[in-house]
Amino acid sequence: MENNEEKKSDPIPDATSEPMTSPPSEQVVAPSAESIAADGEQNPEVKESVTVEEVLESLQEMQETADLLFGAQDPNVCTFPEGYKPRQTVFACITCTPAPQMAGVCYGCSLNCHDGHEIVELYTKRKFRCDCGNPKFGAEKKCTLYEEKPKENEFNVYNHNYHGKFCTCDAYYPDDAHGFELYQCEICEDWYHDSHTPSKSIRYETELEPEEKEPAAAICAGCIKKIPFVAHIPEGKDVFCHSKLTSEQLIVPEELANMSIMVSHFRERLCKCSGCTRVYDLADCEFLLDNEDDMATFEDEARKKVASEQKTEGEEMRELVKEVGMDGARVFYEGLNEFKRKFAEFVNKKAEEGNLITEDDIKQFREELMDGQERKRPRLE
Ligand SMILES: [Zn+2]
Ligand SMILES: [Zn+2]
Ligand SMILES: [Zn+2]
Ligand SMILES: [Zn+2]
Ligand SMILES: [Zn+2]
Ligand SMILES: [Zn+2]
Repeated sequence: MENNEEKKSDPIPDATSEPMTSPPSEQVVAPSAESIAADGEQNPEVKESVTVEEVLESLQEMQETADLLFGAQDPNVCTFPEGYKPRQTVFACITCTPAPQMAGVCYGCSLNCHDGHEIVELYTKRKFRCDCGNPKFGAEKKCTLYEEKPKENEFNVYNHNYHGKFCTCDAYYPDDAHGFELYQCEICEDWYHDSHTPSKSIRYETELEPEEKEPAAAICAGCIKKIPFVAHIPEGKDVFCHSKLTSEQLIVPEELANMSIMVSHFRERLCKCSGCTRVYDLADCEFLLDNEDDMATFEDEARKKVASEQKTEGEEMRELVKEVGMDGARVFYEGLNEFKRKFAEFVNKKAEEGNLITEDDIKQFREELMDGQERKRPRLE
């Protein structure tokens, strides 16, 4: 997953959609199956080569996104006993539970129980309890991490994402080759192509320059119909008390029909008075006041966990020395530096030749590198 700003995919040609005036900068987009090669092949006019910096930057971004999503989660534990967690990453296994079945599994199960299966990453979902190995998976399939599960998880909410489908266009992800830019609705948690659903931005500070972008909560057109007060949030930074508005005042304005809305600082601007709280309850979106439901809280916890586990290069070196001895450790680090150098050389050469980096190039590079490593690997016995 990457930020919208970094994405360089083709927008879907769609005569009915208008360009977004101010796309949300921190909006996380759905997992992308694009490789460097695929990106280049699809948009040869957009991207003819990549620089080392770009490759390293995108590797770094992938690492950071992975840290945010998975940093706080144990890869060897099924989260079922933790119940309906406020938020966790969820996956659908198309191999085990093809349509019309709908089921989701936790991070640990995706790795341990569904290795090699066709897995669709659904990013995070609220209040989901792991289904792995329950009767939806048939009599044969057992969860290898936590087997005792009831027939079903009655409070789980499913939508077409669990069939690997997204947006109002029902695109199959990740196979669908067009329009990779997706945003997740804060309310229904479905994903939408931003080129398919035009949106209006409601900024936090009116004095913000139009090109200044802030993280924004996306609310899809379907959800705005259910909670029309969202369409009336003014720009600025005041808390918006909507319970005093009449139902006539609360209809969705004509010009916003079938549009999504991107609201900066959405949750902190929601009124918490008893009247408004009642509105959230009635509209089944009381989770908006729950701090643990907020994606920002989920990411903060992941960041803290990752930071507490991160070792410095010195610490890593000392551990390596303990394991493989001084010589082994040194060869390992030399190898790492050599990899960085060779990779830079390889990418630069390709760029100079004006060639795209293909999957075969990467394969060949890896093979050559492995050959070199084989010759140099220290004897540990
Ligand atoms: Zn699980
Ligand atoms: Zn499976
Ligand atoms: Zn499992
Ligand atoms: Zn779409
Ligand atoms: Zn929605
Ligand atoms: Zn209020």
